[in-house]
Amino acid sequence: MIEELRHLIALQELDKEIRALSQALEEIPANLRELEAKLAAVQQEKQEEEQKVEELQTQHRQLESEMVMMDDSISRSRERLMEIKDNIEYKAMLREIAFREDRKDQKETEILELLEIIEVHHQTLAQQQEAIITLQRQIEGLRAEVEEQMATVNQQIQELTARRPQVLQQISPNLLKRYEFIRERRNGTAIAEVRQGVCLACHMSLPPQQFIELQKEQEILSCPHCQRIIYWSGPGEPEGLNSETAA
Ligand SMILES: [Zn+2]
Repeated sequence: MIEELRHLIALQELDKEIRALSQALEEIPANLRELEAKLAAVQQEKQEEEQKVEELQTQHRQLESEMVMMDDSISRSRERLMEIKDNIEYKAMLREIAFREDRKDQKETEILELLEIIEVHHQTLAQQQEAIITLQRQIEGLRAEVEEQMATVNQQIQELTARRPQVLQQISPNLLKRYEFIRERRNGTAIAEVRQGVCLACHMSLPPQQFIELQKEQEILSCPHCQRIIYWSGPGEPEGLNSETAA
């Protein structure tokens, strides 16, 4: 095999590993992000709930002050009742007081109902607070784990990347440029093995004449179908990159 191609295969091995690790790196914090989004949603819901409770409490204070006013007015009417001498007027005042007592009872019922509603909202708030604490704990635990995993993978990427310049030295700038160009456009695979006349990257057959040229190993050729740089590992047991049968 052309010596430069051997180095290019080694480079691709290295780059594929780096690429896979970089992709893994991006996926590591996915669960953490999901939990963080859940936390933000519960916090938002809790805020809305708090606002509702505040509104209801304002309403409650309003009703309570109305009650005080009603009480006052009833007391005043009772005082006046003592001063009334006329029987008809007295009965009219009694009816008036009874009517106001009725309205006061209604107001009291209203307040009790409102307090029950506020209590339900308080329970919801407590549940939301509990959910927030649980999520915060989960996030805290997971974050440490995620950071550790990411540090490990980052270390691996750095080690592999550090090996790259040494391989690069063995490859001409032109071939390297061709390699990078194809790699970007072909999902990270720029070089493919050809076995029995078939490109193992795109699974298409080479024209017979080109396969003959490839076996002469005199120049670096490209697959006419996928444009990847191609190599032939010889007629024996293949040991190439794209081997499907090799373990
Ligand atoms: Zn191909």
